[in-house]
Amino acid sequence: MSASAPKYEVLVVDDSPVYRKLVEQMLCDEPYSLLFAPNGEEALRMFEEHAPCIVITDWMMPDISGPELCQRIRADKTQPYTYVILMTSNTEKGNVVKGLQAGADDYLTKPFDPGEMLARIGVGRRIVDLNRELAAKNQKLEEAARTDPLTGLPNRRAIEDWASKQLRGAARHGYSLWVVLGDIDCFKNINDTFGHDAGDAVLKTFAEGLKKNTRASDICGRLGGDEFLLVVTHVDTEHVEATVNRFREQFAALSFPLAGQSVGVTASFGVAGFQGKDVQEFSALVRKADQMLYEAKRAGRNQVRVELPIDVKVG
Ligand code: GH3
Ligand code: MG
Repeated sequence: MSASAPKYEVLVVDDSPVYRKLVEQMLCDEPYSLLFAPNGEEALRMFEEHAPCIVITDWMMPDISGPELCQRIRADKTQPYTYVILMTSNTEKGNVVKGLQAGADDYLTKPFDPGEMLARIGVGRRIVDLNRELAAKNQKLEEAARTDPLTGLPNRRAIEDWASKQLRGAARHGYSLWVVLGDIDCFKNINDTFGHDAGDAVLKTFAEGLKKNTRASDICGRLGGDEFLLVVTHVDTEHVEATVNRFREQFAALSFPLAGQSVGVTASFGVAGFQGKDVQEFSALVRKADQMLYEAKRAGRNQVRVELPIDVKVG
């Protein structure tokens, strides 16, 4: 097995030391990392600790039975898919059906043939590989569904999820939370004068600057179009205004080389905050910040307008 190949952890559960040894001998030259448990309870403990991708379990054990162990493994939704093979000396069809119904993927009848056992574990590996691929693809899709493709920033959905949790934390622990809406000034002119690609470059530069000015504990993202959102926690009113103003000035000081010209672009910002015990809806804060943004635009653009925090308990 090459160093980069995935490792397959196999948990073997059997109260018989003889069978445990037998399985160990059969699998010791194979690319598996083996774990052994002498009973069901120990198996469950090891399952939680190691999350093996394959479990081979005896049917009859002193504490919990093989099918019961299957059910407990299937009930644990925190672990990735585990392929379970039941070993039984009982070849009665009814028992096999019961085992499969309990969540086993396959079964082996004792005494088992080494070749058959390896082949059946090989099937398990294929299923595990498929499940791993599926999980990795799902994670990528989930990330893509939460990311703005142009700037790589979190999108509206991701910010809303994050901010709603933070808002509950802010109400519980009494820290401040600010919503900052930023919108590029007269952005349509950039598109109309220099083309859509030039507009995209401006959006990306704005996003990069915003990201650099966002602490690791906070979040920024793109809501859509030329509108961006930043959530800032644990700072007071003066500090948030100074932070946003600093970023506004940094952005306004940039010059974009567009069509042989050096072009300056500005942005306006609306800020609304929350500090208190009564949980606010995130959308209500965004609406307030939007009103402030509108004020900033109306007042001539390239400025920051801050609404004092909602629900501040004075004294
Ligand atoms: P204001 O100062 O009032 O904000 O004026 P504005 O021109 O910036 O406002 P408006 O909302 O009219 O313009 C936003 C423009 O952004 C309109 C739309 O064509 C453009 N836009 C939206 N998404 C993208 C994008 O992904 N790339 C580019 N280049 N333009 C985009
Ligand atoms: Mg705009």
